Amino acid sequence: MSKKYKGFLWIFIFLVIIGVSIFYLLRQYDNQQANNTKLIQNNETKANKGVSDKPKIIEKKEREFTGVNIKYNDKSVPVLMYHSIAYEEGNELRIPKENFREQMKYLKDNNYTTLTLDELYSFFISNKPIPEKSVVITFDDGYKDNYENAYPTLKEFGFNATIFVITGAIDNEKDYLTLNQLKEMEQNGVDIESHTVAHEQLDKISYEKQLDTLTRSKKYLEEVLGKEIRYIAYPFGKYNTDTVKASKYAGYNMSFTTQGGWSNKTQDIFTLNRVYISANYGLSEFKRRLTNPNYNTN
Ligand SMILES: [Zn+2]
Repeated sequence: MSKKYKGFLWIFIFLVIIGVSIFYLLRQYDNQQANNTKLIQNNETKANKGVSDKPKIIEKKEREFTGVNIKYNDKSVPVLMYHSIAYEEGNELRIPKENFREQMKYLKDNNYTTLTLDELYSFFISNKPIPEKSVVITFDDGYKDNYENAYPTLKEFGFNATIFVITGAIDNEKDYLTLNQLKEMEQNGVDIESHTVAHEQLDKISYEKQLDTLTRSKKYLEEVLGKEIRYIAYPFGKYNTDTVKASKYAGYNMSFTTQGGWSNKTQDIFTLNRVYISANYGLSEFKRRLTNPNYNTN
């Protein structure tokens, strides 16, 4: 091989190495920027709460919403609120499973996207766009029938949902979900979050007691489920200024009440509205609540 040719070969190899290095450096820089943004957001929330010994947030891969109309966080989102999925004559909190399935089928047939609470949170906080037809499905209390009657339908349609559980009832009270059921659902698109330890009416108890039930339920679920608990629904939807303060201090990121209406970012993120679904509503009332952001004012 001639000296001149060897010289060119080395220059070529050198340029390739430089090129590849620049490519990787740029890619890393991009990733770092994204991580920094997340870190800054996490640190900011921590700083606001004055808490530092929180479990690390495991960043899940974010879903990309393509091929659908999207909306930004100046718009509202319906967060459906269910309790029990079962029959009971005269109890409007218990929705027969056929009616529940009919409502879920409506969502499926009409191309609704069921958001996780992480996705709803990103939408409000980071303005991550979501599909125009987005909905959040939540259940309060953690009834065993959620596993028996709602979970099969949710799985059938591949839907995300959240159950806010009363942690003191787990493996203790017969009508409530067991830990094994929670673990199984958690692995299959059903997010488990807190509804306090004993369903305390928060606005009736001291700040210290509120902080205690908010913290203990969160720590318990984090231990048994091995994930960070970031969201809570207030029992009876009741709260006061101490509740919001205690929720922040305990390390929650977002809370829900039972105040009727779609959730939107003009509300305090610690007192978000939800859309009540009663056993007395037919499919047309379900549709009205699902499609009309101002359903409760007209
Ligand atoms: Zn409740």
